[in-house]
Amino acid sequence: MMPPSRLSALAGQRGGYNFAFLDEHSKREIRRKLLKAVAIPGYQTPFASREMPIGRGWGTGGLQITLATVGPGDVLKVIDQGTDASVNALNIRRLVERTAPSVRLTVRTGAATLIQSRHRVPEDPLRADQILVLQVPEPEPLRMVEPRETATRAMHAEADYSRAWVHLYEDIVTNGEISRAAGYPVLVNHRYVMSPSPIPRWDIHRLHMSPNLTLLGAGREKRIYAVPPFTSVVPLDFEDYPFRVEDFRGARCARCGAATTYLDEIVLDGGKRVFTCSDTAYCDERSGADQGAAS
Ligand SMILES: [Zn+2]
Repeated sequence: MMPPSRLSALAGQRGGYNFAFLDEHSKREIRRKLLKAVAIPGYQTPFASREMPIGRGWGTGGLQITLATVGPGDVLKVIDQGTDASVNALNIRRLVERTAPSVRLTVRTGAATLIQSRHRVPEDPLRADQILVLQVPEPEPLRMVEPRETATRAMHAEADYSRAWVHLYEDIVTNGEISRAAGYPVLVNHRYVMSPSPIPRWDIHRLHMSPNLTLLGAGREKRIYAVPPFTSVVPLDFEDYPFRVEDFRGARCARCGAATTYLDEIVLDGGKRVFTCSDTAYCDERSGADQGAAS
C-alpha cells in the first residue's frame, strides 16, 4: 500500500460532523450557561468545557461559544490581536467553514453578525445586531490577590473587592501609576469585578454601554461570562489616579494615517520605528486595500 502523500490524507474523512462541530447536547448546555451569564452581568458561570480540536489556551472557550451560538445565515469574523490573518484566527475560521458550511465568513467588521476575537475589540463601533465573543485565558480578576478559587468565589458573592483595591494601590506605590496594561479589572453593572480578557486599556470603553452583546469564554478554566447590551463597564481607579488608556499622542498609522486607533509599533530594518493600526480590517478599509478582499 502506498503511504499517504499528504497529512490531510492521514486525517481521513471530514464528513460526519454535527453542524458547527459540537453535538446538540453540548450546544444546549453552553447556551443555557450563556443565558445565565447574560442574566448576571460579569458573573463567571461554570460550564462543562469540551475537548476541542485545538489546544486549551488557544481560544477553546471563545470557540465553544461561537460554535454554540452560530447558525445558518450568520456571518462570522475571527480576529487575533486585531488581525484576521493570524494562524490562530485562520484555523478557527477553517474549522467553522468545514463544519458549518452555511455560515459565511468575512473580514469586514460591519458585515459580521458574530465576531470572535482575542486581545482586541474592533475599532468600528458594534451594533445591536452583532455579538462579540472574547477569548479569555484567565477569567478570575482576583487571582492576582487570591490563589484559592473557593476564596475568590466568596469574595465575589460578598462583593468584597477590598483586596483588589489594595493591589491597585500597591501598584501605584511601587510604580507611580497603575501599571496593569492588558486585562484591566472592571466593575460590571455596579456589581461584579470582571476581567475583560487581555484587551488593551484602549478597548475598555468600547464595552461600556455598548449596544452589542459581549460573551466571554475561558475553555481551560471552564467559565463563561457576559456583558449584555447597554451595561455599565467601569475600570477600577482612584480619584487622584484616574484610569487612562495607552498614549499614542503624536503617532499615526503609517498605512492609513489614522491618529485615533490602537497602534502596533513595528521596528523596520535599520531600527526605524513606525506604527500601524492593530485592527487590520479597519486599516485596510481606510487605506482602500480591502478592494476585492474576501467579503
Ligand atoms: Zn491604519
